[in-house]
Amino acid sequence: MTTQSINRPPEKHVKVLDGQGWIGLIETMGSEVTAVNAARVSFGKMRTEMNDKDVTLLKYLIQHRHTSPLEHIQFTFVVHCPLFIRSQWHRHRTWKYNEISRRYTSIDMEFYNPTQIRQQAESDRQASVSQDDASWNGENSKIIADFNQQAFEVYEQLLENGVAREQARGVLPQNMMTTFWATVDLSNLLHFLDLRDDAHAQWEIRQYAQAIKSLIKDEFPTIAEVAGWE
Ligand SMILES: Cc1cc2nc3c(=O)[nH]c(=O)nc-3n(C[C@H](O)[C@H](O)[C@H](O)COP(=O)(O)OP(=O)(O)OC[C@H]3O[C@@H](n4cnc5c(N)ncnc54)[C@H](O)[C@@H]3O)c2cc1C
Repeated sequence: MTTQSINRPPEKHVKVLDGQGWIGLIETMGSEVTAVNAARVSFGKMRTEMNDKDVTLLKYLIQHRHTSPLEHIQFTFVVHCPLFIRSQWHRHRTWKYNEISRRYTSIDMEFYNPTQIRQQAESDRQASVSQDDASWNGENSKIIADFNQQAFEVYEQLLENGVAREQARGVLPQNMMTTFWATVDLSNLLHFLDLRDDAHAQWEIRQYAQAIKSLIKDEFPTIAEVAGWE
């Protein structure tokens, strides 16, 4: 039996944020036939494999938001992302979370250094605009990377001085990477994907939402088709 760091992606994972972040699939409970069987419990019948009628029924359930049969399918992901994406993610109350604690450990600390910097959109306070100016991009990317490094050095200095990890972590920036486990049922996952792989969502969290689709679409082909995943 071996112990390993949760800051390493599991075998089944997708990298995002230029390779600085990733999301892995730890476990799946159920398959498409699980939802179909749950829907048919009312009739006291179940099947072990999908047939054409089952595909039609599953499509009907999704299109008409018959959510309870979908709740019998569950996924556990491990997410490695910056703190500001963690905050957005954890607004989704229907998920269950456990996260690495910087009260307990100061190992494997990493910071997100964005390479493509976006400009603030003028018309929409929550939006950003891509910027082609390489020198503007490079200058601002460097400011962020330098600050990440300085903040880490201050943190290390505080630890060296004997300051408790739980207080020293206050100097660490939003770009610090964190890792958490996140478990959700299929119905609430589809809701999350609607909201977070959308033009109104921030580019970084969209990357994770798209990665989730690519992690599960092969095992959930009917759902991928109905939901229009590419
Ligand atoms: C583009 C975008 C911008 C956002 N901007 C902001 C922002 O500026 N500030 C901010 O604070 N948040 C912001 N949010 C977060 C947003 O308000 C929601 O908190 C987040 O998207 C989670 O959605 P949800 O509540 O539907 O999901 P979940 O919490 O997963 O809930 C799923 C569904 O379950 C039901 N539900 C869950 N809990 C309850 C409950 N306690 N009572 C009743 N029904 C419940 C609701 O029907 C809900 O839609 C933003 C979200 C998006 C996508």
